[in-house]
Amino acid sequence: MKADILTIFPGFFQGPLDHGITRRAREMGVAKIEVHDLRQFTHDKHRTVDDRPFGGGEGMVLKPEPLFECLESLHLAPREQRAAEKQSVILLSAQGQRFTQKIAADLAAVDRMVLICGRYEGVDERVADFLADRELSIGDYVLSGGEMGAAVIIEAVTRLLPGAVGNEASTRQESFTAHVEAAPNGADSTCGSGGLLDYPHYTRPADFRGMPVPEVLLNGDHQQIRKWRREQALKKTLRNRPDLLEGVQLSGEDSKILARIKEGRE
Ligand code: SAH
Repeated sequence: MKADILTIFPGFFQGPLDHGITRRAREMGVAKIEVHDLRQFTHDKHRTVDDRPFGGGEGMVLKPEPLFECLESLHLAPREQRAAEKQSVILLSAQGQRFTQKIAADLAAVDRMVLICGRYEGVDERVADFLADRELSIGDYVLSGGEMGAAVIIEAVTRLLPGAVGNEASTRQESFTAHVEAAPNGADSTCGSGGLLDYPHYTRPADFRGMPVPEVLLNGDHQQIRKWRREQALKKTLRNRPDLLEGVQLSGEDSKILARIKEGRE
């Protein structure tokens, strides 16, 4: 996958993309990430990228010219052919569709992803209307720029690229991931989240300052461990993210466990 980032703060990305899986993916050539400085696509002495809003109002607006010119320099397919060419141009925006694990998985299948970072009061709307394919928001809050969002999207997508993570099964079992799995065999004590939250993880020491690891994890009974993990995942989802329960298909066993958890709470 090749990702291009369009920003007025190219230096921002020295750091966020240089660690862990993202770094490894870049070093292995699984992901190629290029940062483009929008000021290089200005033509005046002051390298102006912003201007005042038509109609009045607070603040400044990111001008369309540098964004259009920068994107044109990347020679992507025309907008109507981009999906077929596996290309996606994304405008980071608080007004965008909310970024989710599902969208991350969809983007992991494209060959070319362009991330446009807004600043100031936002970006001239013609960028959303005529240049970008979609607007994405990383959550219901307002940031000062799209750079954090671009880094978030790149990290979430990169770790799903084939070859980026050593053990691919691990990314298929995580929170929010509705991956369809083969029925677990007796020797497998893990369970996928099925779109819910992940189960809790523990490591050594078995007793840390009087806080013991749940006994069931130490007994080697894979089936029992799997059952316990599923129950914990359901419990945590009910407690922290009940909204997720609406969107998934629960097994009969899951529904029984949930009913039991709810009973216990009353
Ligand atoms: N006036 C806008 C906010 C502009 S913030 C509004 O009220 O909706 C400036 C830039 O930060 C935006 O253009 C966008 O690129 C980025 N940004 C802010 N919040 C964001 C979010 N939740 N997700 C993604 N990008 C965001």
